[in-house]
Amino acid sequence: MSDQKIIDGKAFAEKIRTKITEQVASLQKHNGFTPGLAVVLVGEDPASKVYVRNKGEQTKASGMASFEHKLDASTSQATLLSLIDQLNKDPKVNGILVQLPLPKQIDAQAVINAIDPDKDVDGFHVVNAGRLATGGQGLVPCTPYGCLLLLKDRLGDLAGKHAVVIGRSNIVGKPMAQLLLNESCTVTIAHSKTKDLPAEVRRADIVIAAVGRPEMVKGDWLKEGAVVIDVGINRIEKDGKFKLVGDVDFQSCIGRAGAITPVPGGVGPMTIAMLLHSTLVAACRQHGVELPK
Ligand code: NAD
Repeated sequence: MSDQKIIDGKAFAEKIRTKITEQVASLQKHNGFTPGLAVVLVGEDPASKVYVRNKGEQTKASGMASFEHKLDASTSQATLLSLIDQLNKDPKVNGILVQLPLPKQIDAQAVINAIDPDKDVDGFHVVNAGRLATGGQGLVPCTPYGCLLLLKDRLGDLAGKHAVVIGRSNIVGKPMAQLLLNESCTVTIAHSKTKDLPAEVRRADIVIAAVGRPEMVKGDWLKEGAVVIDVGINRIEKDGKFKLVGDVDFQSCIGRAGAITPVPGGVGPMTIAMLLHSTLVAACRQHGVELPK
């Protein structure tokens, strides 16, 4: 019974990647080009190194070209901006991703805004944020986009549903709220200054937790049958061992939730799948061809 409640992001992401692999093969055969993604890593952050390696491996596995640029932690902003300029001009590079966080001497927003918005596959450029807010055709941040697909797969039409998004970051909370608004949900954005978070969550048909606080959302906060999407990735120590947990207390929530994403294996795998999807979309737009069916 409870197995049916678990939203299997790993399996869903695999289906998306299989489809992308077929679409890439079709573009190579019928349109004569291979989409390419450039990933830039500055410094030695261990989590960032793992993310960049996974992104490179999955890009290659889909048949796309992967260009990895690893720069020293002491790299200046000017050097990074000059690399971005070079990638913007390179026709083989259809998508550019600069892995965050960046070292202190670099202004991350200045770097993001230097990326050609049509190659900004992370969807963080101010132009893409504006396009998302105004209904334009842009590139959408990968994690919230993945959450939206999981929700639509489970619920179908989202119109009229009350969604509570916990967290208001530019990379998850705000674009998530915007995507849900675009689906005609009634959206509440809760954050660190929200007065009575359990009361807000209790009104939700859909709960998105993107906070960065281990197991914060409790089962008795939920309306019976609410669909819960847990974006959080927190590394905690339990019984002398390290493990990953989300922002949702899975054990207390699964009883009341209508459906819920696990951590790991929920939202996480969707993020890279959506990155590949955005690279494919960007490549097709740059070449003026339709996305293969
Ligand atoms: P962030 O730190 O930028 O933002 C956290 C947000 O939570 C803030 O807007 C803050 O107002 C809100 N918040 C903090 N304490 C709160 C409280 N007590 N009650 C209500 N709201 C509170 O974080 P982020 O970058 O948005 O990431 C959030 C989480 O999602 C982190 O655990 C991160 O690791 C994870 N994440 C996962 C993926 C993925 O691929 N699965 C991608 C991005 C981020």
